[in-house]
Amino acid sequence: MKIALIAHDKKKDEIIELSKKYKDVLGEYELYATGTTGTLIMGETGLKIHRMKSGPLGGDQQIGAMLANGELDLIIFLRDPLTAQPHEPDVSALLRLCDVQKIPLATNVSSATVMLETLKEKKAFLF
Ligand code: PGA
Repeated sequence: MKIALIAHDKKKDEIIELSKKYKDVLGEYELYATGTTGTLIMGETGLKIHRMKSGPLGGDQQIGAMLANGELDLIIFLRDPLTAQPHEPDVSALLRLCDVQKIPLATNVSSATVMLETLKEKKAFLF
């Protein structure tokens, strides 16, 4: 099972804390991330992550391409809803593709926690 992790800049602290808390759970899966998010999580947790380009430089679109190809199973994308993003079209496209492909998507730390607790208990997502 493949999981993608993305966080806007003001949500980087939250995704790092989440990754630390669920390091053992995340470590059981193949992980992908946009560039800066991936670098930070790897540095803080030691988790192995396939890094794409930074989000504003096309990383969201690379994750989107994986989604379109059916290559991802779950997305955690901690969005900053209060700051304009230069790559907003890419963000919207990625969120849309999750719905097209019916891929579970968490866009804030609370829904991400529900997902990771579920994975921890192995109650679902056993593809
Ligand atoms: P980043 O990209 O991980 O390279 O910061 C995230 C984003 O803004 O989409």
